[in-house]
Amino acid sequence: MTGNNQSPARGCLFVVSGPSGVGKTVLCNKMIERFTPMLVYSISATTRAPRSGETNGQEYFFYSVDEFKNALDNNLLAEWAIVHGNYYGTPKHFLEGNISQGRHVLLNIDVQGGMKILGQYPEAIMIFLQPPSFSVLEDRIRRRNTDSDEIVRKRLENARSEMAFLSRYSFSIVNDDLVKAAHELEDILRKHIQSAS
Ligand code: 5GP
Repeated sequence: MTGNNQSPARGCLFVVSGPSGVGKTVLCNKMIERFTPMLVYSISATTRAPRSGETNGQEYFFYSVDEFKNALDNNLLAEWAIVHGNYYGTPKHFLEGNISQGRHVLLNIDVQGGMKILGQYPEAIMIFLQPPSFSVLEDRIRRRNTDSDEIVRKRLENARSEMAFLSRYSFSIVNDDLVKAAHELEDILRKHIQSAS
């Protein structure tokens, strides 16, 4: 808090991007566990089909294309993008509500969405996760074994263009070792959370 009768200091906005299969979701989940309750995860809306084990409202809000377009028409999304052929977007209300209450928000979004968020929130802390190599990335995506061959190919193609955005991010972490990458990410978050309070 900044003092009596004043609104709380705004929370930080952390954006984590990087190619599919780089480990964003695992690392983001670890950060939520580590920093709960002051850090909250922004649950995106998507038109992609749920993977096995995914529940509506937990990993994503699973929308039909019409529902997604309706959310766009009603200006309910802070950013959106078409990623691997599906719509993905960040609900605006959750983001703004939490930041204005002084909670920190973690966004796991693609580079197009990352750039849109940076345009609106220049203070956002931009973190890029890199794979140690493309062959490791391919192996991870294939081992995940939840996507068809065509989707795997699309995700790998996209990975190359996503890497071109690396220089627009203030921090980059190579995920060659999950424990080490988690420590690096935790350090970045902790420093910003401490200096915001
Ligand atoms: P997946 O389908 O594997 O869960 O996610 C595919 C990609 O979409 C990932 O790069 C993920 O970061 C990105 N993504 C997830 N939610 C959003 C969102 O709300 N906006 C944007 N722009 N990308 C998202």
